[in-house]
Amino acid sequence: MSRTIKEPNNPMPKEWKASELSQNFIADYKAFNFVDGEGVRCSLYVSGCKFMCPGCYNVVAQNFHYGQPYSQELEDQIIEDLSKDYVQGLTLLGGEPFLNTDVCIQLSRRIRKEFGHTKDIWSWTGYTWDELQVETEDKLELLSLIDVLVDGRFLEAEKDLTLQFRGSANQRIIDVPKSLAQDEVVIWDKLVR
Ligand code: SF4
Repeated sequence: MSRTIKEPNNPMPKEWKASELSQNFIADYKAFNFVDGEGVRCSLYVSGCKFMCPGCYNVVAQNFHYGQPYSQELEDQIIEDLSKDYVQGLTLLGGEPFLNTDVCIQLSRRIRKEFGHTKDIWSWTGYTWDELQVETEDKLELLSLIDVLVDGRFLEAEKDLTLQFRGSANQRIIDVPKSLAQDEVVIWDKLVR
């Protein structure tokens, strides 16, 4: 008897639009953590994701209505937390940041305004780099504001808990500015495994 292996959803280009899906809800905010990228980080978990990866690490945040609305108070708190010398930067994850672009772009722009490039911005996404290149304008704008992108769905079949900052071997840690400049994926130069 064959067993059906469930796969994540695979959207057509521009099929999923933040303008139609996002409720601008936040599942969680964690200041001063050490696990969502390099250094001490502040992590914003946005609500809503349609990839539905079997084995997703944060199933509740697949719901676009989960949690609380993003607020100016939260944004001001994040900026204050990021201003600490020992904080390296912000991490966007979820849920799917690229289906919550209003919140993520607004916050990322403010970080660039307040801190320039002295704080870095990491983001996780279920989209692959190639998929994002043919996606909607808002997704491309968010990509242009990010320093490091961990791309691709979580795939149970390629699960590997020994990997740096990612759950399955198909996912990559990408240097976004270098990749945009060279028009091809450039892997983060501090990759160990
Ligand atoms: S892309 Fe990430 S948040 Fe979305 S279902 Fe997959 S593992 Fe979960």
